[in-house]
Amino acid sequence: MEVEVKLRLPDSAAHQKVSDLLSPFHLKTHLQENIFFDGASSELSSKFAILRLRFYDGDSLCVVSLKAKATLIGGISRVEEDEEPIDPSIARACVSEPLRFGSVINSNRILKRARDEFGCGDKGFVCLGGFRNVRVVYDWEGLKLELDESQYDFGTSYEIECESADPEMVKKKLEEFLTGNGIPYSYSKLSKFAVFRSGKLPE
Ligand code: MN
Ligand code: MN
Ligand code: MN
Repeated sequence: MEVEVKLRLPDSAAHQKVSDLLSPFHLKTHLQENIFFDGASSELSSKFAILRLRFYDGDSLCVVSLKAKATLIGGISRVEEDEEPIDPSIARACVSEPLRFGSVINSNRILKRARDEFGCGDKGFVCLGGFRNVRVVYDWEGLKLELDESQYDFGTSYEIECESADPEMVKKKLEEFLTGNGIPYSYSKLSKFAVFRSGKLPE
Protein backbone atom coordinates (compact mmCIF):
# COMPACT_ATOMS: atom_id res chain seq x y z
CA MET A 1 0.00 0.00 0.00
CA GLU A 2 1.35 3.41 -0.99
CA VAL A 3 0.23 6.20 1.33
CA GLU A 4 0.90 9.79 0.30
CA VAL A 5 -0.09 13.27 1.34
CA LYS A 6 -1.15 15.28 -1.72
CA LEU A 7 -1.55 19.03 -1.49
CA ARG A 8 -2.55 21.05 -4.52
CA LEU A 9 -0.95 24.42 -5.19
CA PRO A 10 -3.28 26.77 -7.05
CA ASP A 11 -0.85 28.35 -9.52
CA SER A 12 2.71 28.80 -10.75
CA ALA A 13 3.32 31.62 -8.25
CA ALA A 14 2.65 29.29 -5.29
CA HIS A 15 4.78 26.62 -6.96
CA GLN A 16 7.63 29.10 -7.41
CA LYS A 17 7.46 30.16 -3.75
CA VAL A 18 7.67 26.57 -2.56
CA SER A 19 10.49 25.88 -4.99
CA ASP A 20 12.45 28.90 -3.68
CA LEU A 21 11.91 27.97 -0.03
CA LEU A 22 12.94 24.37 -0.56
CA SER A 23 15.91 25.01 -2.83
CA PRO A 24 18.50 24.44 -0.04
CA PHE A 25 17.07 20.93 0.37
CA HIS A 26 17.11 19.97 -3.33
CA LEU A 27 17.98 16.33 -4.01
CA LYS A 28 17.15 15.72 -7.67
CA THR A 29 14.91 16.74 -10.56
CA HIS A 30 13.34 14.32 -13.03
CA LEU A 31 11.32 14.83 -16.16
CA GLN A 32 8.76 12.04 -16.08
CA GLU A 33 6.55 10.93 -18.96
CA ASN A 34 3.52 9.01 -17.75
CA ILE A 35 1.69 6.92 -20.33
CA PHE A 36 -1.42 4.93 -19.39
CA PHE A 37 -2.99 1.77 -20.76
CA ASP A 38 -6.21 -0.14 -20.39
CA GLY A 39 -7.15 -3.60 -21.57
CA ALA A 40 -8.70 -3.56 -25.04
CA SER A 41 -12.07 -4.35 -23.43
CA SER A 42 -11.59 -1.95 -20.49
CA GLU A 43 -10.53 -4.83 -18.25
CA LEU A 44 -8.51 -2.49 -16.01
CA SER A 45 -10.69 0.63 -15.82
CA SER A 46 -13.79 -1.48 -15.18
CA LYS A 47 -12.03 -2.69 -12.02
CA PHE A 48 -10.62 0.75 -11.13
CA ALA A 49 -7.08 -0.33 -11.93
CA ILE A 50 -4.43 1.61 -13.82
CA LEU A 51 -1.45 0.43 -15.84
CA ARG A 52 1.24 3.06 -16.28
CA LEU A 53 4.58 3.31 -18.02
CA ARG A 54 6.75 6.02 -16.51
CA PHE A 55 9.81 7.16 -18.43
CA TYR A 56 12.46 9.12 -16.55
CA ASP A 57 14.59 11.79 -18.23
CA GLY A 58 14.02 10.62 -21.78
CA ASP A 59 14.83 6.94 -21.94
CA SER A 60 17.15 6.67 -18.89
CA LEU A 61 14.72 4.45 -17.00
CA CYS A 62 11.19 3.13 -17.36
CA VAL A 63 8.96 1.61 -14.69
CA VAL A 64 5.70 -0.29 -15.17
CA SER A 65 3.13 0.28 -12.42
CA LEU A 66 -0.17 -1.32 -11.65
CA LYS A 67 -2.33 0.68 -9.27
CA ALA A 68 -5.63 -0.41 -7.80
CA LYS A 69 -8.17 0.47 -5.14
CA ALA A 70 -7.16 4.12 -4.94
CA THR A 71 -8.76 6.47 -2.42
CA LEU A 72 -7.99 10.15 -1.87
CA ILE A 73 -9.61 11.64 1.21
CA GLY A 74 -8.62 14.82 3.03
CA GLY A 75 -5.43 15.11 1.00
CA ILE A 76 -4.29 11.58 1.89
CA SER A 77 -4.00 9.07 -0.95
CA ARG A 78 -3.95 5.32 -0.43
CA VAL A 79 -3.42 2.93 -3.32
CA GLU A 80 -2.29 -0.62 -3.89
CA GLU A 81 0.80 -0.15 -6.02
CA ASP A 82 3.05 -2.70 -7.67
CA GLU A 83 6.05 -1.68 -9.78
CA GLU A 84 8.84 -3.19 -11.83
CA PRO A 85 11.37 -1.71 -14.27
CA ILE A 86 11.10 -2.46 -17.99
CA ASP A 87 13.63 -1.93 -20.76
CA PRO A 88 12.98 1.68 -21.92
CA SER A 89 13.43 0.92 -25.62
CA ILE A 90 10.96 -1.97 -25.45
CA ALA A 91 8.58 0.26 -23.50
CA ARG A 92 8.82 2.94 -26.21
CA ALA A 93 7.95 0.33 -28.80
CA CYS A 94 4.89 -0.67 -26.71
CA VAL A 95 3.72 2.95 -26.57
CA SER A 96 3.78 3.29 -30.34
CA GLU A 97 2.40 -0.22 -30.87
CA PRO A 98 0.69 -1.74 -27.81
CA LEU A 99 0.61 -5.17 -29.49
CA ARG A 100 4.32 -5.26 -28.67
CA PHE A 101 3.41 -5.89 -25.03
CA GLY A 102 2.75 -9.45 -26.17
CA SER A 103 6.45 -10.06 -26.60
CA VAL A 104 7.37 -8.96 -23.05
CA ILE A 105 4.32 -9.99 -21.06
CA ASN A 106 5.94 -13.17 -19.78
CA SER A 107 9.12 -11.47 -18.68
CA ASN A 108 7.50 -8.71 -16.63
CA ARG A 109 5.69 -9.53 -13.38
CA ILE A 110 3.40 -6.49 -13.57
CA LEU A 111 2.27 -7.16 -17.14
CA LYS A 112 1.68 -10.79 -16.19
CA ARG A 113 -0.54 -9.65 -13.33
CA ALA A 114 -2.52 -7.42 -15.71
CA ARG A 115 -3.11 -10.47 -17.88
CA ASP A 116 -3.66 -13.11 -15.22
CA GLU A 117 -5.56 -11.15 -12.55
CA PHE A 118 -7.41 -8.65 -14.74
CA GLY A 119 -7.79 -10.63 -17.93
CA CYS A 120 -5.89 -8.24 -20.20
CA GLY A 121 -3.89 -9.83 -22.90
CA ASP A 122 -6.23 -11.75 -25.17
CA LYS A 123 -6.98 -8.65 -27.16
CA GLY A 124 -4.05 -6.83 -25.61
CA PHE A 125 -3.75 -3.29 -24.34
CA VAL A 126 -4.81 0.10 -25.62
CA CYS A 127 -2.88 3.29 -25.03
CA LEU A 128 -4.85 6.06 -23.28
CA GLY A 129 -2.18 8.74 -23.74
CA GLY A 130 -0.61 10.59 -20.86
CA PHE A 131 1.21 13.66 -19.62
CA ARG A 132 4.60 14.97 -18.56
CA ASN A 133 5.55 15.80 -15.03
CA VAL A 134 8.53 17.75 -13.74
CA ARG A 135 9.24 16.27 -10.33
CA VAL A 136 11.67 17.99 -7.98
CA VAL A 137 12.63 15.94 -4.94
CA TYR A 138 13.74 17.48 -1.64
CA ASP A 139 15.08 16.08 1.59
CA TRP A 140 13.30 18.36 4.07
CA GLU A 141 13.23 17.79 7.82
CA GLY A 142 13.55 14.05 7.42
CA LEU A 143 10.81 13.92 4.76
CA LYS A 144 11.16 13.23 1.07
CA LEU A 145 9.06 15.92 -0.57
CA GLU A 146 8.10 15.78 -4.23
CA LEU A 147 7.13 19.04 -5.92
CA ASP A 148 5.27 18.33 -9.16
CA GLU A 149 4.49 20.44 -12.21
CA SER A 150 2.15 18.32 -14.31
CA GLN A 151 1.83 19.33 -17.94
CA TYR A 152 -1.42 18.19 -19.51
CA ASP A 153 -2.63 19.02 -23.01
CA PHE A 154 -5.24 21.25 -21.36
CA GLY A 155 -3.01 23.05 -18.85
CA THR A 156 -0.54 22.77 -16.00
CA SER A 157 -1.22 21.86 -12.39
CA TYR A 158 0.96 21.91 -9.29
CA GLU A 159 1.14 19.61 -6.33
CA ILE A 160 3.30 18.62 -3.36
CA GLU A 161 3.42 14.94 -2.51
CA CYS A 162 5.00 13.13 0.39
CA GLU A 163 4.96 9.40 0.97
CA SER A 164 4.77 8.42 4.63
CA ALA A 165 3.59 5.77 7.05
CA ASP A 166 2.33 8.65 9.22
CA PRO A 167 0.40 10.82 6.77
CA GLU A 168 -1.49 12.78 9.43
CA MET A 169 1.79 14.00 10.94
CA VAL A 170 3.20 14.86 7.50
CA LYS A 171 0.03 16.66 6.47
CA LYS A 172 0.11 18.79 9.63
CA LYS A 173 3.81 19.62 9.12
CA LEU A 174 3.30 20.54 5.47
CA GLU A 175 0.24 22.62 6.22
CA GLU A 176 2.18 24.54 8.88
CA PHE A 177 5.03 25.10 6.42
CA LEU A 178 2.70 26.41 3.71
CA THR A 179 0.51 28.49 6.00
CA GLY A 180 3.57 29.90 7.80
CA ASN A 181 4.95 31.10 4.48
CA GLY A 182 1.66 32.49 3.21
CA ILE A 183 1.35 29.93 0.43
CA PRO A 184 -2.19 28.98 -0.61
CA TYR A 185 -3.01 25.28 -1.02
CA SER A 186 -5.86 22.82 -0.89
CA TYR A 187 -6.23 19.09 -0.41
CA SER A 188 -5.92 17.36 -3.77
CA LYS A 189 -9.28 15.84 -4.67
CA LEU A 190 -8.21 13.96 -7.80
CA SER A 191 -5.14 11.91 -8.64
CA LYS A 192 -3.05 13.11 -11.58
CA PHE A 193 -4.45 10.21 -13.59
CA ALA A 194 -8.01 11.26 -12.76
CA VAL A 195 -7.21 14.85 -13.78
CA PHE A 196 -5.75 13.57 -17.03
CA ARG A 197 -8.85 11.48 -17.73
CA SER A 198 -11.21 14.33 -16.83
CA GLY A 199 -9.65 16.44 -19.58
CA LYS A 200 -9.65 19.64 -17.53
CA LEU A 201 -7.78 21.20 -14.64
CA PRO A 202 -9.37 20.71 -11.22
CA GLU A 203 -11.37 23.63 -9.78
MN1 MN B 1 4.83 5.15 -6.04
MN1 MN C 1 2.31 9.88 -6.14
MN1 MN D 1 5.05 8.40 -4.95
